[in-house]
Amino acid sequence: MTNQSNAEIVFIGLGHMGLPMAQNLVKAGFSVSGHDLVPAAVEKLLAVGGRTSADAMQEVAGAKVVITMLPASRHVEALYLGDNGILAHVAAGALLVDCSTIAPESSRKVAAAAAERGCAMLDAPVSGGTNGAAAGTLTFMVGGETASFERARPYLEKMGKAIFHAGAAGSGQTVKVCNNMLLGIQMIGTCEAIRLGLANGMDPKVLSEIMSKSSGRNWVLEVYNPYPGVMENTPASHDYQGGFGVDLMLKDLGLAVENAQQTGTTVALGQLARALYQQHSESGAGALDFSSILRAAQA
Ligand code: NAD
Repeated sequence: MTNQSNAEIVFIGLGHMGLPMAQNLVKAGFSVSGHDLVPAAVEKLLAVGGRTSADAMQEVAGAKVVITMLPASRHVEALYLGDNGILAHVAAGALLVDCSTIAPESSRKVAAAAAERGCAMLDAPVSGGTNGAAAGTLTFMVGGETASFERARPYLEKMGKAIFHAGAAGSGQTVKVCNNMLLGIQMIGTCEAIRLGLANGMDPKVLSEIMSKSSGRNWVLEVYNPYPGVMENTPASHDYQGGFGVDLMLKDLGLAVENAQQTGTTVALGQLARALYQQHSESGAGALDFSSILRAAQA
């Protein structure tokens, strides 16, 4: 049932990423109703002019667009497919956009159920971290039909600056899984190179600067140096707080290895990266930024 007072956009999942993304939609002038299990997160959306209501599903029923940003596949499937979930309430014709990083087959399953309900659905995972979410400069990799992608573009452009259509449903997640496997491997490799330099008496700043202008250059060296003090605004320089959590990287490496098994692909370094992040998480570092693997390598 559509209610005249409903917001145009319902945004569910106001965590590290979802909150700044929803705030950017509010700042762009959209009416956004935000929902999270954590009331303090919702308060922060209200503070910039967002809205909320006690009944998220009533808001979903009247929304033109529903955007979700949740931790993992199980949360997404429960929220969309559950008895009191999004698909049980959403109006036919609404646009559903899931920005969470989840398994491609999970995205396809939810998109197929949405199509039966008469709704277009996109998987639209992001890259760019919490800084990119706050600055509205995320990269979106989107899976789904072209027409739905074009409908989503005006909203995605307020949260990101590079918006890519990767292909059919699930393709956005496939690109994200490949990208994050490479990122995890690059982070561990970069930590090893820095530690080797340190063991030889090198200044990590000098070493990093030279490598970032040489053939070992990569995103970690250029903008996310894992050594404390080399770059001012990295989690490494703030006790590895904030940023992209070890447990989220572990989840993404798990998605990559699982997908590799399903598709018969060899990902030797992806498997090794997952094992190293698993050990690091079990040592108690799960909530730290993923660049803290630099410390694990010292053990
Ligand atoms: P987060 O844990 O900070 O946020 C998830 C939020 O979802 C939490 O606030 C939680 O309370 C809420 N939530 C869970 N189930 C809910 C439900 N049923 N109803 C309402 N709210 C619910 O995680 P995050 O760092 O924001 O990451 C979200 C997704 O984005 C993950 O899939 C992650 O892999 C991906 N991602 C994260 C980063 C990053 O740098 N943090 C970068 C790119 C992609």
